[in-house]
Amino acid sequence: MFDDNKLTAARLWVISAGRSGTRSPDGPRNQPYLARALYALIPTPSDDVLRMTVDEGWRLYMNPEWLAAASVPDVGRELAHLVWHLINRHADRARGCGVSESSASRWRRAADEAVGEFTDPAGLRPCHIRLIRNDTQITVETRFEQLAGDSAPGADSCGLDECGSGADGISRSYESPRTTDLPQVSRVDGELIRRDVATAFLRSAHGRGTGGYIALARWAEEIVNPVVPWQQILGAAVRGAVTTATGGGDYTYRRLSRRTATAPNIVLPSRQRVIPEIAVVIDTSGSVDERMLGQALTELDNIVSTLQISERGLIAVSVDTSAYNLRRVRRATDIDLFGGGGTDMTVGIAAVAAQRPRPEVVIVFTDGCTPWPAQPIAGTTLVAVLLDSRSGAPPATPEWAIRVECVDEAL
Ligand SMILES: [Zn+2]
Repeated sequence: MFDDNKLTAARLWVISAGRSGTRSPDGPRNQPYLARALYALIPTPSDDVLRMTVDEGWRLYMNPEWLAAASVPDVGRELAHLVWHLINRHADRARGCGVSESSASRWRRAADEAVGEFTDPAGLRPCHIRLIRNDTQITVETRFEQLAGDSAPGADSCGLDECGSGADGISRSYESPRTTDLPQVSRVDGELIRRDVATAFLRSAHGRGTGGYIALARWAEEIVNPVVPWQQILGAAVRGAVTTATGGGDYTYRRLSRRTATAPNIVLPSRQRVIPEIAVVIDTSGSVDERMLGQALTELDNIVSTLQISERGLIAVSVDTSAYNLRRVRRATDIDLFGGGGTDMTVGIAAVAAQRPRPEVVIVFTDGCTPWPAQPIAGTTLVAVLLDSRSGAPPATPEWAIRVECVDEAL
């Protein structure tokens, strides 16, 4: 058997705050948000491990002799280190990187570095694990890649029998198979624990900015408030507008023949739709960020090419307070940009709406500091794409328009 009291004491030690002063060996900790994860671990005594390891089912393999001899803080640091491997799904991610037995120790070194970013501010790094680099921005995948060129062995990083399959996805002989009926944490439960830890962290004082938990704050933010890339939103908006315009289904250039039009008993194949007309209105006023505009137009071209309507091209016009150079282009990025004065997109929207046939979809790229038409245009879906101007509150768009906000990731 094993020393259950010591395990309990070690969990509490991690959760509770240490005495003030980071130089004290009994320093920070104060990790109440780790409670759910620490109590989810399933203790399993094993003589095959040196200290402690975890498998993907959150089983905690512990050497009973080591546990009996180790101090409560030592056990606590091991526990914190191992649960962060699990919370961060290092096993799944190792598989995603194609980690094999031969590259597993390099992966664990990368994973230990990543875990160190989370445990170090709380004074929770096990003493046998040395933090080699400190960079809160790097993912474990990037660390793994970068270490490929580094022939130095992982020094005091996890040895081959350390951490367990919960850190690298490579199962060990002493581990219970995932398929057994023995208690384990399922993938779904693991995901729930992960979300709970992230939510609890953001609600804690650390999550509100104390204690220098930079990597942990970024991690929790991404889980609790994931940012959907604007490219994805723009794609969904354009596809949605095109689907609305065509009533769904595939598109064709074929117009109804005169015979069909006068012979209503003849049923056309229902999936043959008229290819939609897309118009692009581009704000060329001085306040528009050209780099952002370039990114957005490139993205639009990508989206249009997946719609299989690209042969038709687009109607395009550049606008400041006047409409310039209204013409058909093959791609949005082919448009010559004119203008540079004030901003009034209603002029450009009116210009494209006057085309016959009237475009079914009008996409306006603007910084948003513009008047909009008072009413929707009959038969037309308007997509308002706001190019990030970083000038305070995002500007308003009409309620009847589809709104997409682009954010410049490079900033
Ligand atoms: Zn480790």
